[in-house]
Amino acid sequence: MSLRTRVESIAGGRTDLYIGGEWLKPRSGRYLDSYDPATGEPWYQAADGGEADIDLAVAAAQRALRDPKWRDITQTERGEMMRRLAALVLEHAEEIAQLETRDNGKLLKEMRAQARNLPEALIYFAGMADKIQGETIPVNKRNILNFTVREPIGVVGIIVPWNSPLMLLSSALSPSLAIGNTLVVKPSEHTSASALALAELIEQAGFPPGVFNVVTGYGHTAGDALTRHPGISKISFTGGTETGRKVAMNAASHLVPSNLELGGKSPHVVLPDADPERAAIGVVSGIFAAAGQTCIAGSRCFVHESIYDDMIDRLAARTARIVIDHPAKDHTEIGPIALKSQLEKIERYVGFGMEDGGQIVVGGKAPQREELGKGWYYEPTIFRNVTNDMRIARDEIFGPVLAMLKFSDEDELMHLANDTRYGLAAGIWTKDIDRALRFAKKVDAGTVWINTYRSASFMTPSGGFKESGTGKLGGFEGIREFSRLKSVVIDYSGETHDPFVMRLK
Ligand code: NAP
Repeated sequence: MSLRTRVESIAGGRTDLYIGGEWLKPRSGRYLDSYDPATGEPWYQAADGGEADIDLAVAAAQRALRDPKWRDITQTERGEMMRRLAALVLEHAEEIAQLETRDNGKLLKEMRAQARNLPEALIYFAGMADKIQGETIPVNKRNILNFTVREPIGVVGIIVPWNSPLMLLSSALSPSLAIGNTLVVKPSEHTSASALALAELIEQAGFPPGVFNVVTGYGHTAGDALTRHPGISKISFTGGTETGRKVAMNAASHLVPSNLELGGKSPHVVLPDADPERAAIGVVSGIFAAAGQTCIAGSRCFVHESIYDDMIDRLAARTARIVIDHPAKDHTEIGPIALKSQLEKIERYVGFGMEDGGQIVVGGKAPQREELGKGWYYEPTIFRNVTNDMRIARDEIFGPVLAMLKFSDEDELMHLANDTRYGLAAGIWTKDIDRALRFAKKVDAGTVWINTYRSASFMTPSGGFKESGTGKLGGFEGIREFSRLKSVVIDYSGETHDPFVMRLK
């Protein structure tokens, strides 16, 4: 089926599972509603896959691992397939962007940018396919040659959330395909459509059946079954910290490593010498882009006490001008919240913020505009007089809520910035390079931005510290995550040594 036909069949229809190169109905026979956040109405039904479907998908992925059409092709051919896929994604970027916006409510212009970024990531990793090489190790024994080989790890289970479905999928998929793994993907139950569209393109690009499989369904059923499956060699999970903990424990029960990209409560710092206008725009976009629904959202803003009031005035002025509207409109800066449950969580946390003593500077409610209909919108909200012990400063809200905190010196700043269970990202605005570098060194964060924020790239190694996750994606780190390293040792001395004594030289 062409991608256009597949996409057209989604709206108002039912989607099936993609396993072993075939479109299959779920064993349960059930389908679940997927909602359009801009209307609050269901717009298609996705197959409710479960354990039996995961079994089939893992078996198909294992067969594909042994299939000479995948196992025995050269790395150059694998790279070519990936480049063909990149060309197809680019050709269909608009349809993919439209699908994702309809599914998760993110701005169409943002999803267009992400859809155009995907081919670049595929081409980047396709270029690595024929450059993955081992090393020769000069071991301390005579006439011994030791070299290493980087091999595919096997079947990779990938679980992704709803906030940037294909972009997040791509950060595990692209290095995995480059090294020659096979994949079973469980998208979020809220955003199944784009992974299924990608399956269509993967088939057209010539990947053998079973290399890429998609089982849609709920996290606690399909997702859980995938993480417990003994036929998986690696789990790549992106999502919340609590779910990540369960995923890691399931995988560990059969000694399978997991790469965990989890939540955050990132500190975003403004020093007195920063360019105030650039810093204000950086802070506003750092938290309110995507309505705060990004793992790297700079949700705790630390401002030096000497400029605290001025910075709040600037932030409030820009925030009050943010255009909230339908995500497909060009002028929109904030679209709806992706899920009703997420909207309710934001409302609950705004309540906690007031109960705990924070003061709302701007926002704090859903916009009351008839043309927004029943969509799940929320105004960007700034709290002042926040202290680090308040719930809005401790917990990840994953919504457009900014906590403004104050500090007086560098020691206090570092103590407060690191006083969190998370360690995903951090940002600082200053013209003083010494202070910026001291901050970068001392902050517990996997990524640190200086005079910028949210500048993410598939080339940058990224991944959180502390409860924000384990492992790294991006750049060659992605290849390391999804491969296994074998050491080969050869004795070319032609001599026989005492086999009962460890050879020292
Ligand atoms: P979530 O509830 O943890 O879900 C993430 C994924 O896990 C979804 O596909 C979900 O399926 C699935 N899942 C749920 N329960 C599961 C279980 N018991 N076993 C296996 N899979 C399960 O997170 P979310 O609310 O979708 O996403 C928001 C979170 O993701 C935030 O915490 C955010 O910070 C984090 N995130 C992190 C990064 C990063 O790179 N560090 C990037 C983006 C988002 P269902 O949706 O079908 O339940």
